[in-house]
Amino acid sequence: MASAWIALDDDGLNALSPGSSVTIATDCAQLILLWTQFVDVPFSPKLLRLPNHLLWLSIRHLLNDRNLRVKLIKVPTHSDDALNAQADALAQAAHTFLQPTFSPMAFYHVPCLLTFNSLPIDLNIRHFLRHIGDARNFLSFCSLARFTALGPPALFDWAGIHHCLSQIKGFAPHNNGRPEFWIFWIKLLLDMLPTLTTLQQRKPHLYSPDWLCPQCNSAPEDINHLWTCPYILPELNPCMTHKKEIAKFWNDCITAFSSQKTLPDSFCDEFSALDCWNFNTPSASCLWLTRRLLPAHLTAFLKDYFLLSTIYKVISPLLNDFQLELYGEIWLCRNVLFHAWEESQGISASSKLKTKVALLPFPLLLPLIIKTLLWRQSLRIPGFLEYPLL
Ligand SMILES: [Zn+2]
Repeated sequence: MASAWIALDDDGLNALSPGSSVTIATDCAQLILLWTQFVDVPFSPKLLRLPNHLLWLSIRHLLNDRNLRVKLIKVPTHSDDALNAQADALAQAAHTFLQPTFSPMAFYHVPCLLTFNSLPIDLNIRHFLRHIGDARNFLSFCSLARFTALGPPALFDWAGIHHCLSQIKGFAPHNNGRPEFWIFWIKLLLDMLPTLTTLQQRKPHLYSPDWLCPQCNSAPEDINHLWTCPYILPELNPCMTHKKEIAKFWNDCITAFSSQKTLPDSFCDEFSALDCWNFNTPSASCLWLTRRLLPAHLTAFLKDYFLLSTIYKVISPLLNDFQLELYGEIWLCRNVLFHAWEESQGISASSKLKTKVALLPFPLLLPLIIKTLLWRQSLRIPGFLEYPLL
């Protein structure tokens, strides 16, 4: 592409007299390929859909306007050709420039030039508009009150969160086999899981505002309580399970990042000291990470060692594994107990559709828990995935 730009500047095609013929030697096979796609063919509106079309159409215009004939020939790469080495050096130097020192508008000679913020749009306009739409939608997403209530936007790595969201290709079973899980983690991210607190807000006529978590009866059951509930049975204790899974996630991250390249001895200690791994309290950022709200300090630390693309590529699948465990080991188990508890309250699926029901007295939970545990023995997660719990 640098070669194509050079063709437009004052020392390139612009310097040739009208009617000239010139042969350009290049080691860039891609340049020759693009030249044949753009310059050596009749104009077609389809060219406007291709990247850098303004640049190429300007070259076309220049060739036609001055009646220039250009022939490209391929030369071997790194063949100690002095001019070739100079061209490589110029291209490398141009690649390190942060910003061009000139306006690209000055070089364009095209009949129609669309701009955005005074910059030419040199890619498929439909794709460009879609990118703008995506960016605006994501800005609206980041600005949701449920996120801003947690703190300033700078607390989160929105680029990483966007990367995680972009990994969702769809909810159809043939794409990933786990549509219920994807719905779970979207609702978890958005704090839309039907916890008792949420249900109390949505349907106060069914769920008394005075009720606490049915499993421990010690605190309101909101999204964070899902992971901190001190349920008395060790096998179903969400707090212990969450700690175990966070520790595994942390360990998997260290293993995965250490396999990327050789890291200093201090990496492990400093990584482990990050606030988001404080699962004993747990810290606010640990609970954010559990929701897939990537804390900015996690990415900021890793950026000292890795490219952002590497960080997201490593963390994203590990987050999936982590949340899949939470889904199976905590959320589905909680749902079985919760549905049993709802039945004991006389809250059935049909009653949820009614505006008012007569609530039954709060029952003793223990017989239902035993019944649920016996039921669970016959079902093994992820066999639970078929259970309509969301
Ligand atoms: Zn609880």
